[in-house]
Amino acid sequence: MAIRQKPFGQPIYVTRPLLPDLDQVKEKLKEVWDSQWLTNNGPQHQLFEKKLLGVLGVPHLSLFNNGTIALIVACQSLRLSGEVITTPFTFPATPHVLSWNNIRPVFCDIDPLTLNIDADKIETMITPQTTGILAVHVFGTPCDVSRIQEVADRYGLRVVYDAAHAFGVDIEGEGIGTYGDISMFSFHATKLFHTTEGGALTYNNENLKQRIDLLKNFGIKNEEEVVMPGINGKMTEIQAAIGMILLDYIQEEREKREVILKTYHECLDDVEGITFLPHDMDGVEKSFQYCVLRIDEHAFGRSRDFVYNEFKKYNVFTRKYFSPLCSSYTCYKHLPSSHPINLPIANRIVSEVLSMPFYGGLSTDDITRICDILKSFRNQ
Ligand SMILES: *Cc1c(COP(=O)(O)O)cnc(C)c1O
Repeated sequence: MAIRQKPFGQPIYVTRPLLPDLDQVKEKLKEVWDSQWLTNNGPQHQLFEKKLLGVLGVPHLSLFNNGTIALIVACQSLRLSGEVITTPFTFPATPHVLSWNNIRPVFCDIDPLTLNIDADKIETMITPQTTGILAVHVFGTPCDVSRIQEVADRYGLRVVYDAAHAFGVDIEGEGIGTYGDISMFSFHATKLFHTTEGGALTYNNENLKQRIDLLKNFGIKNEEEVVMPGINGKMTEIQAAIGMILLDYIQEEREKREVILKTYHECLDDVEGITFLPHDMDGVEKSFQYCVLRIDEHAFGRSRDFVYNEFKKYNVFTRKYFSPLCSSYTCYKHLPSSHPINLPIANRIVSEVLSMPFYGGLSTDDITRICDILKSFRNQ
């Protein structure tokens, strides 16, 4: 019989935003106040944009007010239309961005190990209406970028990556944002690196810069000319200033999370029915954005839903990212590609995944307790 564990005195959430020193923020805000320039490509914005090129290891980049608007603009800038092949295992923003562009999302099944779009199945989903592939590096694990590019090239398709989870990820030293036509990064408060709200597009083709920057500013070319129906996607000076400050914090946060991840592994690696997503891939620098477990109900003795609900009694609030599948939403379930017969892996995995508390403020003792609580569930 396992020892009955005590609940945490304070709620433990899946993440907490990285907060810089307030005095440092005040100092930076003073600069912004003195400039009397709050948005529209001001000095902080220009500085931050330049700095991020180096951090992400990309040749071109445009900042945005959030990742979703950035992704909408990415589709517009590449003139995607008709159908775009994507994954059902993602945050709602991914398929919604297609809908906001009048594009029909076509859901393709996922790889059972990486949980990313299965590159070998993309080809079977292509129709004469297909114009692109919108893949997600889910939980920061890189997609099979070379296989996806090969299929895209063969059929003349564009490739857009939702890299919202992949800040700091690289493959053999190449920034993850250099793959495909355009990649989107989200700087939302819940992401490892953030600007409260915010995002960016990265791309290799420098000709895209002008079009993307016009699209995010109402299509205004100059005081006399508005050349396309753009939107307001501009990042403010305050967002950019916070971003500049937080860039100095992420290395330390990543190191703390590396220790936390190691502790999770030490506590759970030998537990039957519990596995980790593949964190270590050859040549890949990982994101440290999520710690995701898979719970095999038969081997562990308890279902993911049981664990999720039971944890709450101990003041531990895990998340079932990304359940339900996008193909199950009322707005998409009628699509032919949403039928579970088309998505067997996604439909199986979605009931197994659980995102665990994962942020630098957690102590080794917290993690050990969380794992002890989890282990106690199967003996209850
Ligand atoms: C967070 C997230 C987004 C949306 O980004 P926002 O900056 O919040 O608009 C898009 N896709 C995925 C996979 C995300 O996790």
